[in-house]
Amino acid sequence: MIDATHDPARMSWVASANGHAEFPIQNLPLGIFSPAGGGPRGGIAIGDSILDIGAALDAGLFAGAARDAAELAAGRTLNAFMEAGPAARQALRRAVSDLLAAGGAGEAQAARILHDASACTLHLPNRVGNFTDFFAGIHHVITAGQMTRPDNPVLPNYRYVPVAYHSRASSVRVSGEPLRRPNGQRKRPDEAAPEFGPCRNLDYEIELGVWVGPGNAVGEPIPIGQAAHHIAGFCLLNDWSARDIQSWESQPLGPFLGKSFSTFVSPWIVTVEAMAPFRGPQPPRPAGDPAPLPHLLDAGDQAGGGLDIDFEVWIHTAKMRAEGTAPHRLSAVNAAILYWTVAQMVAHHTSNGCNLMPGDLFGTGTLSGPDVRTEGCLLEMSRGGSRAIDLGNGEVRRYLEDGDDIIFRAHCQRPGQVSIGFGECRGRIGAALAL
Ligand code: MN
Repeated sequence: MIDATHDPARMSWVASANGHAEFPIQNLPLGIFSPAGGGPRGGIAIGDSILDIGAALDAGLFAGAARDAAELAAGRTLNAFMEAGPAARQALRRAVSDLLAAGGAGEAQAARILHDASACTLHLPNRVGNFTDFFAGIHHVITAGQMTRPDNPVLPNYRYVPVAYHSRASSVRVSGEPLRRPNGQRKRPDEAAPEFGPCRNLDYEIELGVWVGPGNAVGEPIPIGQAAHHIAGFCLLNDWSARDIQSWESQPLGPFLGKSFSTFVSPWIVTVEAMAPFRGPQPPRPAGDPAPLPHLLDAGDQAGGGLDIDFEVWIHTAKMRAEGTAPHRLSAVNAAILYWTVAQMVAHHTSNGCNLMPGDLFGTGTLSGPDVRTEGCLLEMSRGGSRAIDLGNGEVRRYLEDGDDIIFRAHCQRPGQVSIGFGECRGRIGAALAL
């Protein structure tokens, strides 16, 4: 639903928000931050600043449903706010948009309610009870599948089942935290026996993160027609992957230690409401593909469940930093490549009666296109390490090296709308623990 909060003519008294590439007044993503010298609390990104929701409450700037919603969003995590659902999010969004709009009541309290974002620390926005990683980027499935099954890269279930696995919630962390190269068992095909040692094939996966809003009771599936109401918002997600550990351990069960050492998310939750101008039809399936089964098919979801988000992956190596050169863009891809909508993921996930909880996290699966430099991980770009990727400065990569920074960004842009961004999801590879 597009309303006054999306109006391209709406400007903010927070000067840095006007024309801001990530956080104009039309975005208003939520997160948890600590100002210098203060503890974690709920906030909303606006330009180069963060609105302190609790401080705005204390200043008496919210009333009615917006006040109730702000109370849920002002604490140390946003789980209670996630649970409150679309009406609470919309009430808070309308009130904050009015507060921050040119001439809005917040300006007189600016010193009390705004913090300079560069002086704040950002935290994980929710206590993550569960993290499920899907596999909905079909070109990732094709390219990765071709390495082991050249004649049959996509297994027959794929076009019926939104394939996923339960990943690890405890090691989900926020952008910018330290990351240590994992140790583990790995064995190349030409080696007789495995060794325990530092991962040799460390990779990233760029994914869209999905934050679950209201949950469901165990035994009570969420119908596809209601699934959208259970999604609160989106973020960037880096599903760090130790390819050598993963390939050795996943015979025959799924990903375990090759994935569970860490997953990074961007700190800001870009709400479903902020994404309203950037939705559209789910792209049609290729000719010959089966229609989704009825419990995964909804006319409204097919008409408006597609997301128009442009993603980019950048690398900034230690050498680039030392020489003062800019990061190198590895790839760019649009979310239109997703084979399944996020509502289909919710409906499938709960179709057996499994319960989702507020603040649960999904990854969509690696976002890859069919073309060169649209691949969302190095496994694909290097074809399993067999091709060197030229970084344009004399360096090449097959997999990540210690000191590499991997930076994800995403933006939404459409004619007649103000563009919004997701902020960054960033991580630097640290050396493995010495054995
Ligand atoms: Mn993944």
